[in-house]
Amino acid sequence: MKNTAKFRRAGRLARVQVSEIVQIAEAARERRAAGENVIGLGTGEPNFDTPQHVKDAAAQAMADGDTKYPTNSGNLGLREAICRKFARENSLTFDVDQVIVSTGAKQVLFCAMLATLERNDEVVIPGPYWSSYIDMVEVCGGHSKVVGCGPDVGYKLTPELLAEALTPQTRWLLLNTPSNPTGAAYSADELQALAAVLEHHPQVWIATDEIYEHLVFDGFKHRSLPELAPNLADRCLVVNGVSKAYAMTGWRIGYGAGPEELISALSAAQGQITSGACSIAQAAAVAALDGPQELVGEWCASYSARRDQIYAAIQGISGLQCRKPEGAYYLFPNCAELIGAVTPAGETLADGTDFCRYLLAAENLAVVPGRAFGMADHFRLSYAYEPDDLVEAAQRLARACAALQ
Ligand code: PLP
Repeated sequence: MKNTAKFRRAGRLARVQVSEIVQIAEAARERRAAGENVIGLGTGEPNFDTPQHVKDAAAQAMADGDTKYPTNSGNLGLREAICRKFARENSLTFDVDQVIVSTGAKQVLFCAMLATLERNDEVVIPGPYWSSYIDMVEVCGGHSKVVGCGPDVGYKLTPELLAEALTPQTRWLLLNTPSNPTGAAYSADELQALAAVLEHHPQVWIATDEIYEHLVFDGFKHRSLPELAPNLADRCLVVNGVSKAYAMTGWRIGYGAGPEELISALSAAQGQITSGACSIAQAAAVAALDGPQELVGEWCASYSARRDQIYAAIQGISGLQCRKPEGAYYLFPNCAELIGAVTPAGETLADGTDFCRYLLAAENLAVVPGRAFGMADHFRLSYAYEPDDLVEAAQRLARACAALQ
């Protein structure tokens, strides 16, 4: 019998599309498969290998039979290690019941939205933003209220912009420092100024995504909002993980810490999604958090040198403007001046996405259109790549910009 039933996607997923980051990575892969020499600076992940002592801890966990279902909210040993990390690095005191371990920081955030949002609750998201925030809020029935934070404010939310955005319907503020895609990080003073506004809005919870915490340069000190504003701590969810700091993106371990009631709601959500994170990866994460931290500093120095290298090269390219970021491993150049220019093939660049397509077509250079992050006349590149590739990428970028009329 012929199956005539038509596939129908659930309404809650209607506006969720394959991310532009994935699209560009696929387009680059296709060109590579066709024999082209593509340089891809699209994906944001460390180009280092997971430290050996972390891998050893995973192997030991397997040898010891740590292969059964984990505790839903995270194995006790890892939650204790996370509490030690918060005390050591952020001067924050959490009890193990205030901590959840998830399959990546992404799942912490998703569970937070799933566990708390009612239809049309507003979530204030400073833009440019990590695109997943928007999709998560959408899937969980909330309404993203994007606050445009452009070059004029250093791509950071100001107290004035925050005060304007908050309403009685605001349920969450999603703050990301250092930021993906701009690398901009909030100083202690800037966080305190935001906290002063939030004090007057007790209905607003704050998720502070600190996944790039360790990747800060030139002596910048990362600070966590609840440390600076303890009076907000009972409505803060601190989100972090091992992906970026310890080159463990594939292990999928993230964690969140906050008031026990909130964490228990996240745990209820997580219980119906994954029943907890992989036991072996949890053992590895304990080794990462409790083990030697020297590599993190060495890697950070290496990212800092690469940031300087690619930032200097972009400064010399006419038509591009770029803010020097404090952290993460991204640059977010503004290409607004090049919109409307004509390529050697006679095509007019209608927007930043056209510019990125042109870079791929003309120079085999893959970067991510700013539209993916809510700022269409920009693009994001990651410099977590080999310095030689960065030199070559900068040359291709300069050549492509110079060829525009
Ligand atoms: N938050 C931000 C801002 C990110 O850029 C990413 C990953 O790119 C994540 C969270 C997700 O991290 P994880 O690998 O722990 O899920």
